[in-house]
Amino acid sequence: MIPRKTALSPGSPAPKPRSNAAPDNALAAELTRLLGPKKVLSALSERLSYRYDAIQFGETPLAVVLPESTADVVTAVQTARAAGVPIVGRGAASGLSGGAAPMQPGLVISFTRMTRLEVFPERREARAQAGVVTLSVTEMARPYGLLYPPDPASFRTSTIGGNLGENAGGPMCFKYGVTGDYVKSLEFVDAEGEVYEVGRGAYDLAGLLIGSEGTLGLITEATLRLTPPPKFTRTLMASFAEVGACAEAVSAAIAAGAVPSKLEFMDQACTRAVEDYLHLGLPVDAGAVLLVDTDGDDLDTVEEERALVEAACVEAGGTVRRASSDAESAALWQARRSVSPALGRIRPQRMNEDIVVPRSVLPDVVREIRALGDASGFPVVQFGHIGDGNLHPNILFDPRRESADAVHELAHQIAAVAIRHGGVLSGEHGIGTMKRPFMREAVDPVTLDVLWNVKRALDPAERLNPGKVLP
Ligand SMILES: Cc1cc2nc3c(=O)[nH]c(=O)nc-3n(C[C@H](O)[C@H](O)[C@H](O)COP(=O)(O)OP(=O)(O)OC[C@H]3O[C@@H](n4cnc5c(N)ncnc54)[C@H](O)[C@@H]3O)c2cc1C
Repeated sequence: MIPRKTALSPGSPAPKPRSNAAPDNALAAELTRLLGPKKVLSALSERLSYRYDAIQFGETPLAVVLPESTADVVTAVQTARAAGVPIVGRGAASGLSGGAAPMQPGLVISFTRMTRLEVFPERREARAQAGVVTLSVTEMARPYGLLYPPDPASFRTSTIGGNLGENAGGPMCFKYGVTGDYVKSLEFVDAEGEVYEVGRGAYDLAGLLIGSEGTLGLITEATLRLTPPPKFTRTLMASFAEVGACAEAVSAAIAAGAVPSKLEFMDQACTRAVEDYLHLGLPVDAGAVLLVDTDGDDLDTVEEERALVEAACVEAGGTVRRASSDAESAALWQARRSVSPALGRIRPQRMNEDIVVPRSVLPDVVREIRALGDASGFPVVQFGHIGDGNLHPNILFDPRRESADAVHELAHQIAAVAIRHGGVLSGEHGIGTMKRPFMREAVDPVTLDVLWNVKRALDPAERLNPGKVLP
């Protein structure tokens, strides 16, 4: 977690908790009066836990509301509006760009109790309240022979509200699309406390809310599209002497007509970290490792597609290993899913970048980032969804000994590499506070003006999640 201020210790020092649970400010007292004490956290000791997400410390909120219905959200928003304080929506706080960390003292609305989930198999849809955990949708859909494809690695904890807030993606998104592609409609509460149900028609208001990181409205429910899962899946791992060959293989496979469902890459530092942790027999001498799934309902086609990918890998100089069983396939994917805990063994903290660049420049980008890491002295590992050119360079550091300023500086340099190569700042983790300082370099002034106009049209008093996304 990165301190909000550029000091080595967490931002503003945490105020000393009081054991007394009585509201100590007018906002908390009014919310407790309106919603009852069970839905409002007013004691400082409770509120302290709501000042951060997975990467960023922020300010301690004045009150935390745990709504159980849209009506509770409306009451909370109207009360915050009357008090003139900002409002931050929060799901599981697994965000990696600071989105759920309050930048000013105000109200946090934590959706974790809004967990109603219904599946309508005949319509291939689910209706989920904002606090439903992502994996629950998949699990509830499975008995009906249906799948919810968006699969962020955090899916055991992240919520549907947070996924919509960030337009989350995952390994399956190369073939199946990101969260927004599975939203049919959504309900949200605006900054005034009005409730809307919006679909995906002209002006696509729902689309505007998706990925807006809680800055345009608070999403309370969504109707999600489900799809039958593929009948067959085949997995392969390929190792390459260097990243360029890996990127070449991916481009050649796609050009030959393959549309793998997953295309994930790990650089050597990343592979070594995972192997040290799990001892799976990964090729630690390889410069790059590629993990690929092909899937579909016709086994011959799935096998043919795997053969296409395999041929492209061999042609690019790679060594291919086919998973011969479901267990072997699961072990290979465990390697990719275990990147986070594996990195935690190298340094206690990491800043997880999320750039997207054209696949053709990926080798240059990976090389330049590696050089920046070497020059900085911080370990930097790289992995990501190579099919989309979505790269996650992770800066590993120890906040007790290493300067947060230096971490931010390196993150800035990495962002600059992406921009210089025609890329963007974020593929799936959002802008939040972390990449907000780079927005002026990444987005032209005219576009920024338009974005501000949209923001002010929906939130004229700039009360929703201030200090995020827009510079
Ligand atoms: C180990 C790990 C792995 C991860 N892997 C992935 C990955 O593969 N792909 C990926 O995309 N992300 C990944 N993430 C990042 C994170 O899990 C996602 O961004 C996720 O969508 C956040 O969900 P959340 O419920 O934790 O949201 P939070 O972190 O609580 O909030 C995220 C943003 O959404 C806003 N928000 C929350 N709820 C609402 C709501 N109801 N209405 C409006 N706005 C709201 C918040 O204000 C904030 O701006 C990973 C994180 C971790 C820690």
